[in-house]
Amino acid sequence: MREIPKDVYRKAAGVLVSRGNAVALTGAGISVESGIPSFRGSQGMWAKYDPAEYATIGAFLLDPEKIWMMFSEMMGVLEKALPNAAHLGLAEMERMGILRSVITQNVDGLHQAAGSRRVIEYHGNPGELVCLSCWKRYPSREKIAGGIPPGCECGEILKPDVVLYGEPIPWGAREDAESEALACDVLLVIGTSAQVAPACDIPRIAKEHGAFIIEINPEETSLTRTVTDIHLPGTASAVMGRLVELLENTRKEPNLSH
Ligand code: NAD
Ligand code: ZN
Repeated sequence: MREIPKDVYRKAAGVLVSRGNAVALTGAGISVESGIPSFRGSQGMWAKYDPAEYATIGAFLLDPEKIWMMFSEMMGVLEKALPNAAHLGLAEMERMGILRSVITQNVDGLHQAAGSRRVIEYHGNPGELVCLSCWKRYPSREKIAGGIPPGCECGEILKPDVVLYGEPIPWGAREDAESEALACDVLLVIGTSAQVAPACDIPRIAKEHGAFIIEINPEETSLTRTVTDIHLPGTASAVMGRLVELLENTRKEPNLSH
């Protein structure tokens, strides 16, 4: 991986300190170093469960027992995962008063575990199960302890409250994410390939309304040469660790921010 010149980090830190009012948009890449594989690359459990076959609402409606094999393995992976330096760095930036919120496409709860307070879960979270027939909700832990697949009192098989391909984004999350994108002055885009709609519109909405876009991803994405102002090519934990360190120094020595 190529070395990022120091002045690019300094420029990113300078923008974050001088503009403040930042929002982060995170994707599966931020949690890779916490041991949760992303879909692209098909490592880990996704080598066994192709998301195109398993993570769709059509597949769940057709054969919920089969899709529950994937859910139960996924929940086992999520339960063991701990936040990494990138999640912790975002929580620290919120405490510094630089970051106003995190919009995450992830369903792993690692931002909250790291201490972030304002987290918009764009694709839901598996802490609750929902019945697609009577819409009753249950806490996952208790229901799953009773056996898999967990059932509703009406007789239907329950679904974790995560957004599968083919399902709409919960309207509250979509509205909150869009208003954060409109309101922010800096958008940090971390570990997302920006290929999953409509989350991929968020950077463009922010850019159109004047936000400065900082992208952290070891690879280039469809955003890198179009909406991104600064690309920091590295892993989320390494880049965020360095950036937060620099933010702390920049705040101690404000002349570094210019
Ligand atoms: P994605 O489209 O967000 O792509 C992953 C991106 O992360 C890629 O661009 C890749 O280059 C980048 N990346 C890989 N390692 C990285 C690292 N160490 N640091 C920073 N960036 C890194 O994600 P996807 O896997 O295609 O998933 C699609 C959808 O499924 C998204 O909604 C995603 O959040 C969800 N998903 C969530 C989880 C989770 O909750 N942790 C895991 C898998 C998939
Ligand atoms: Zn029901």
